[in-house]
Amino acid sequence: MTTDTMHIEVTKTKHSHLSEIDQTKLGFGTYFSDHIFVSNYAKGQWKNPRIIPFANFEVSPCMSALHYGQSIFEGMKAYRYDNGDIYMFRPLENFKRFNQSAERMAMPTIPEDVFMEGLVQLIRTDKNWVPSGKGCSLYIRPVAFATEAHIGVKISDTYDFMIITSPVGLYYSQPVKVLVETHFTRAVPGGVGFAKTSGNYGRSHLPTKLAKEKGYDQIIWTDGYSHKYLEESGTMNLMCVINDTLITPELHDTILNGITRKSVITLAREDLGIKVEERKITVDELVDAHDKGKLQEMFGAGTAATIAPISLFGYNGKDYTLPSTNEKSIGNRIKKELDGIRSGKIADKHNWMYKV
Ligand SMILES: *Cc1c(COP(=O)(O)O)cnc(C)c1O
Repeated sequence: MTTDTMHIEVTKTKHSHLSEIDQTKLGFGTYFSDHIFVSNYAKGQWKNPRIIPFANFEVSPCMSALHYGQSIFEGMKAYRYDNGDIYMFRPLENFKRFNQSAERMAMPTIPEDVFMEGLVQLIRTDKNWVPSGKGCSLYIRPVAFATEAHIGVKISDTYDFMIITSPVGLYYSQPVKVLVETHFTRAVPGGVGFAKTSGNYGRSHLPTKLAKEKGYDQIIWTDGYSHKYLEESGTMNLMCVINDTLITPELHDTILNGITRKSVITLAREDLGIKVEERKITVDELVDAHDKGKLQEMFGAGTAATIAPISLFGYNGKDYTLPSTNEKSIGNRIKKELDGIRSGKIADKHNWMYKV
């Protein structure tokens, strides 16, 4: 549970730059709020939790995160309701996943009060940064990384934990064209695919760049051995609708356990009465369903875009086009529900919203 006992020292900026931001052109990840939350780990303890003005900071050229990749993060959002109240969406899920990532990367876990109080106090400090426009939100980026100045390969003894926030605009996602990747691999069993660790993203840039050169927007990752099983859609979880059933790859250590994925499944099953299957799905099954006219929709699910519709997938030199979507499409119905809950316009019966 969160406690009131943890003392967070707050140093406020003398020069807020909120007035310099064009609220109509927020984009994604371009602007950062005035303050960040910081805590440092040494001698087995997270210490000195504090809120300070956003600013550059110095690191050693030998900082081990730069060389050996002990670095993890989270991505989450806070929303402003019409009455001005601010709510985060399922932050305890991000807290749990952050510590699962930490454990896999041999990094110290963060106590719940440091994570949750850090979030709440930071958002309260920068409450004017939570935008109110339609579809706008405050994107929240907790991050932890190894700071020990040591070039020998070893587990770092010291770490920094920070929370950065960024006001973001309506993320309108044009339907995307995706390439089913059959050469490069995002994750393998026993690896780190389930963790939000920096190397997973660095390794995906080249395959994505090559796919873009061929005219696609994004990659569909397949399993690292046979390249026959679907795994994820870029940095989102993959959802397919075949014969009115929502099908998504079952969780495994190669798949990131998305909070949007989990919420989509709950809404589909419990609120919209849609049949959901979490199971292995092959590219062949997808092609077969397409050819028989039974593949209705494909979309990615993740915090940034919520639902990113897919208009076409390429596989082994051939392109397969999907039918166009409308308000009755499962992806759109789920998105409407999820957006309504997050903006406070639809009752939050699953208790997902957390008041700041
Ligand atoms: C963050 C992420 C997701 C989506 O997770 P959410 O909790 O829904 O934002 C899916 N796949 C990968 C690889 C990710 O990094």
